[in-house]
Amino acid sequence: MGTPERIRAVAERVKRTHDEGASTAVVVSAMSGETNRLFELASQVSSAPLTREMDVLVSTGEQVTTALLSMALHDLGVPALSLQGHQVRIATDSAHGRARIRAIDKSRIEEAFDAGKVVVIAGFQGIDDQQNITTLGRGGSDTTAVAIAAALGADCEIYTDVDGVYTTDPRICSDARKLARVSHEEMLEMASLGAKVLQTRSVECALRFSVPVHVRSSFDDKGELSGTWVVPEEASMEEVLVSGIPADKNQAKITMQGVPDIPGLAGRIFGSLADDGVVVDMIVQNVSVDGDRTDLTFTVGKTDLDKAKKIVEDIREEIGANNVVASDSVGKVSVVGLGMRSHAGVAADMFKVLAAEGINIQMISTSEIKISVIVELDQVDRAVNVLHKKFFADREGTDSGTNA
Ligand code: ASP
Ligand code: MG
Repeated sequence: MGTPERIRAVAERVKRTHDEGASTAVVVSAMSGETNRLFELASQVSSAPLTREMDVLVSTGEQVTTALLSMALHDLGVPALSLQGHQVRIATDSAHGRARIRAIDKSRIEEAFDAGKVVVIAGFQGIDDQQNITTLGRGGSDTTAVAIAAALGADCEIYTDVDGVYTTDPRICSDARKLARVSHEEMLEMASLGAKVLQTRSVECALRFSVPVHVRSSFDDKGELSGTWVVPEEASMEEVLVSGIPADKNQAKITMQGVPDIPGLAGRIFGSLADDGVVVDMIVQNVSVDGDRTDLTFTVGKTDLDKAKKIVEDIREEIGANNVVASDSVGKVSVVGLGMRSHAGVAADMFKVLAAEGINIQMISTSEIKISVIVELDQVDRAVNVLHKKFFADREGTDSGTNA
């Protein structure tokens, strides 16, 4: 929703769906750049803006677009009704800036449907049980859209500035290609591993309520075949081993060396980090050979590095660990695919390919459908390219063949 022209184009698109006879709810985000502008504005009047007031401020971007889209629809002869988060009653917890949706009251939406209206709902915002306005975190309109679809038992189409979900970041690997379909589980791994197409929480919500999500570009309209369908596993019809190779360059690594090998210390360290809101990703602890001391390494987001280091330094002193080393020149490269559940050997293939390139693996972690490694930051691009070649070379140009 970059410009007034774009808003009119969105209205045309909504009108087509409405004309087909479907009850239509549209969730809007703010005009592009607007949410950033509001954050910036706050920083000019306060060094530490109150989180409650931040939400009052940044939720206004979506109020503007609900009204504009609704007006544009009226001009096209489509009766529309704008609704803010509190008017629908999108009930959230009270975690300002990253609130979670608890429940959605669909009665007002259904009333509007019964009256033949299109409902235009403000994304990103909700209301807590004290009637405070809350927001869902950056990119939160995706989550609003999926949650509304779940509440209404509808499919969800997300129009965004990319034309779908890719096997890897096209800026890193020119062979990256669009996936026609991907399962919720895989998308969740890809979303949280740095593929910034959908807000991670929206995918969690889609998985939980089995909402099919069609991600597509707001700039083209090639119909059902465009974009990527993010669907329940049964519908993803996967014959493929690997669906994607997400990379994350915003990682940092902290190692505490010589941690006394006694019960409770990991709980202590990660408890303190969690209390201060530091999200820890990979954790690796060595087996202590002499049964005495061990090394503990973990990763955090780059922006949390200083905070995490300080916390860990303080604990090191208390517990008498040897020392703490940190590095922010690391990145994470992963291989994701449902097929890994039933096929052995993907990890070995991945490690061999990296070894052949002389890329050293610093940490490894795995889940049922994912293998992630930490490597030197300046080797991330090369790692992605060789892995993409390994796992996708034989599938060039088979976008709808192998994956759909
Ligand atoms: N306007 C909010 C943001 O910029 C929510 C969204 O666009 O999804 O993060
Ligand atoms: Mg968005």
